[in-house]
Amino acid sequence: MWELIEKMGMTMRISTFKLMVLSIFCTFLFYNDGRAYDNTTTHRYINEKAVKGISTIDTVLQSAIGFDKGIYEIINEKRIWEWIREGGYEEDVPEYTRCPKHFHDPLSTNWDIAGLSIPPLGYFPSMIYWAQSSDNDYSWLISRDYYYQALLTGSEEQYAKTFRSIGQVMHLVSDAAVPAHVRNDAHLKKGFYDDSDPYENWVKKESLKIEAMEYDVVTIDRAIGSSQNSGHT
Ligand SMILES: [Zn+2]
Repeated sequence: MWELIEKMGMTMRISTFKLMVLSIFCTFLFYNDGRAYDNTTTHRYINEKAVKGISTIDTVLQSAIGFDKGIYEIINEKRIWEWIREGGYEEDVPEYTRCPKHFHDPLSTNWDIAGLSIPPLGYFPSMIYWAQSSDNDYSWLISRDYYYQALLTGSEEQYAKTFRSIGQVMHLVSDAAVPAHVRNDAHLKKGFYDDSDPYENWVKKESLKIEAMEYDVVTIDRAIGSSQNSGHT
């Protein structure tokens, strides 16, 4: 009897050990990639361009909140646009816990499983849920708390967290424009294993050229929305 129990204990210890090795391997594998756009350059760039370009946030900050310098107001040692830009970077940090939550397959009939799935790590929540989750310190939901506290107390720290959160949610919106992030495609890369996404690689490689484009006219794909029939571009 004791012999049997001892053998069972040994089997369990070996199984636990195998599971640990597998988990460490998977974490290691995931650690190096799975990001969408490069967060150091591209996500920062997208956020900065959006805030300084087409967004009306500068006017709103001046007219509705009373920041006379708009996005150039210094809050907690950074300008507001810089907090939003840094949100684009921070949403991928730490990469191995946040990046797997940057996926959403809109064709999934059940949004509980519309995020990334990597056996044996399991399912990660869809980015739609992650963007609004109370488990995410920089979600849209939590950003409203920071904003509320900022308005009540005038705390620069709370304002800074509000603007950083906006930047982090913008990161998720940007990721949704990456084909590999709107399907169950982990596009991992580690060492000799390379299943990375050609589009993301292209954007990363050509980021300087993209910056040089600086175009004013955006042509909308006619297959998108009502532009399909209206003839407008
Ligand atoms: Zn991301």
